Amino acid sequence: MSEIERVTDEPCAPRVVFIGLASCFGCQINITNIEKHLLQVLGQIELGYWQLTSSEPMPDAFDVAVIEGAVTTEEAAETVRRARERAGCVIAIGACAATGGIPGMAAPDITGCAAAVYGDAVPEACGVLRAPAPVSALVDVDFTVSCCPVDPFEFVRVLDAALYGSNRLAPTSVLCGQCAQGEGGCLYKRGQMCLGLVTRSGCGAKCPTLGRACNGCAGLSPDANVGAARAFAASRGHDPARFDEALRMFNTVALVAAGEGE
Ligand code: SF4
Ligand code: SF4
Ligand code: SF4
Repeated sequence: MSEIERVTDEPCAPRVVFIGLASCFGCQINITNIEKHLLQVLGQIELGYWQLTSSEPMPDAFDVAVIEGAVTTEEAAETVRRARERAGCVIAIGACAATGGIPGMAAPDITGCAAAVYGDAVPEACGVLRAPAPVSALVDVDFTVSCCPVDPFEFVRVLDAALYGSNRLAPTSVLCGQCAQGEGGCLYKRGQMCLGLVTRSGCGAKCPTLGRACNGCAGLSPDANVGAARAFAASRGHDPARFDEALRMFNTVALVAAGEGE
């Protein structure tokens, strides 16, 4: 990816906007946690709009759109399309934006889910609901920062790549390759079920390294063989239904698209 195409010829810092869709805003909050580094980043950009911190309307012109959250309404879909039209670069942050994440668990029947919660009195504030989708299902995404929540330093690295260019490719292999580089050994040997078998690498196997099973927050790896992983987990005594249930937490949208969702 080369440097972003500026929307103006006037010399000024790249204008960045942060947009929040269906999410818990946890990724945006996590980014604010790296205060010192964030201030350095903020010195290089013009923060045009940050939904978490401002009630001002989004400006008409900007260079980079950072989008957190899944698309679950027609209004959100329009926001994403408008951001794509205006920004030279779109960055999807967090599992919700990258895979549909936890809001994606309502796929494909979000209307049925809303009715189960609200009965026939679904609040107008819910908007015009549509099947949950990641941002990339609606528009081209230039960069993705995966996981729930994002690693703020990974976000800074990606923003840097968006501003100044990078030829680094997103990893596609499953997490086990990164995990095997550690010394802890596989959690299956300790009787735990782990979704690293099918999860996209890149986080450095954070959870298994701490002795906790991966729950798939980075999304399915393009190299994943879900059937083989399910069979492997079963061979180690884990109920396939439990494996599928665990997988749905962050990957329902992909499973539905592959005909494996409910
Ligand atoms: S990815 Fe996780 S932390 Fe980030 S907005 Fe979604 S639910 Fe919240
Ligand atoms: S602990 Fe998980 S990520 Fe690590 S090797 Fe085992 S299945 Fe793979
Ligand atoms: S180990 Fe799995 S659950 Fe933990 S951060 Fe990495 S991808 Fe997410």
